[in-house]
Amino acid sequence: MTLPNRLVCFMNTLLRNTYVEINLDSIAHNVRTVRRLVGADVAIAAVVKGDGYGCGAVQIAPTIMENGADCLMVATLTEALELRRQYKEYTLIVMGYTADAFLETAVLNDIALTLFTIGQAELLCKLGRKNSKKPVVYIKYDTGMHRIGYEDCQESIDEILKILALKDIVVEGIFSHLAQAGPVEDASQAETLTKAAQKLRAGGYKLRYVSICESIGLVQYPQYHLDMVRPGTILYGTKNFDNFGIHFEPVISFKTMIVQLKIVPKNHGVGYKYEWKSNSDSVIGTLPVGFADGFPRHMHQNGYVLVRGKRAPIAGYVCMDQCMIDLTDIPQAKVGDEVILYGCGGDAAMDIEVAADMLGTTKGEILCHITRRTPRVYTKDGKIVYVRDDLLKSE
Ligand SMILES: *Cc1c(COP(=O)(O)O)cnc(C)c1O
Repeated sequence: MTLPNRLVCFMNTLLRNTYVEINLDSIAHNVRTVRRLVGADVAIAAVVKGDGYGCGAVQIAPTIMENGADCLMVATLTEALELRRQYKEYTLIVMGYTADAFLETAVLNDIALTLFTIGQAELLCKLGRKNSKKPVVYIKYDTGMHRIGYEDCQESIDEILKILALKDIVVEGIFSHLAQAGPVEDASQAETLTKAAQKLRAGGYKLRYVSICESIGLVQYPQYHLDMVRPGTILYGTKNFDNFGIHFEPVISFKTMIVQLKIVPKNHGVGYKYEWKSNSDSVIGTLPVGFADGFPRHMHQNGYVLVRGKRAPIAGYVCMDQCMIDLTDIPQAKVGDEVILYGCGGDAAMDIEVAADMLGTTKGEILCHITRRTPRVYTKDGKIVYVRDDLLKSE
């Protein structure tokens, strides 16, 4: 019994100097900004897949819902179940494919599913009757991405009409996803979806929500907000739309501190393979963060971190648990100084979008790669309100 008790007292405690700080006020601002953009009549299905883009879906869900979202969307049934354990009242929708064997679990936990075959619709009817539930479903329509969903053709419309006629499920909506191939392609996808929805509604069915826009779509195409938008990225403030006159607040900063300083004489190597070499006597600082925390190994390419408001280049490959920085031009730097690895927004810290471009990846991938070893620290009104460290979880 001693060990679990000890673990309990570690909960909500920060026991590392490397962590991701998540500003809940910024998330609130971003949800309210989406509400302002879409107006009162369009539903906001906030996307919190990938553990809320690395921010912690369970921890940020109340902020999102209390500031104007109507429901939460995730990619997998397990992501929905994690949220359902905490929140009985929220509407949860799985956007991806759920296999037949898992449908009953979804039904029993009141989780709405996405489907694109009549077989699954009929199975859900059966499971609904068995469990005295009326499963809620969304139809996925493929308008060009060629990922999942009904192909755009008359046979599909005929089959969806049959699904709509089923009495033991509620078909709440139909949605499609933009491939973001360009304005012409986006418009063609949106038109394809609205035409299909018109045909279905002409059959006498209500179809409450027709939806095509994710973050970029909802900012760029007000004419395609339709009945529901599905913002992800913009809630997390990693994409700047200031040139559209719309400001989303940065949410995330990844921080650590200097644990040691050393003088490296001219012509010495630093780190694995001596990838970085000093071309003068240099001051090297060591940081307790590495790729096992989600700080990418190749950040050294043109990467820098922020120390005392100044940029310090990364010296050599990022190791698994540590990395080194060149502090030669920041003589005031001391052991214990806070270091910002990346944040997003206006200050001199490396923007996640810039880091993504440098590494040839996307902001989403960078955020998803921040690992469970990195604690998440939540702030509100400038104060820490919660710490999540998955390694110290008591369950
Ligand atoms: C991820 C996802 C979204 C949200 O995308 P963002 O670009 O992050 O806004 C919306 N819809 C679907 C189907 C998705 O998979």
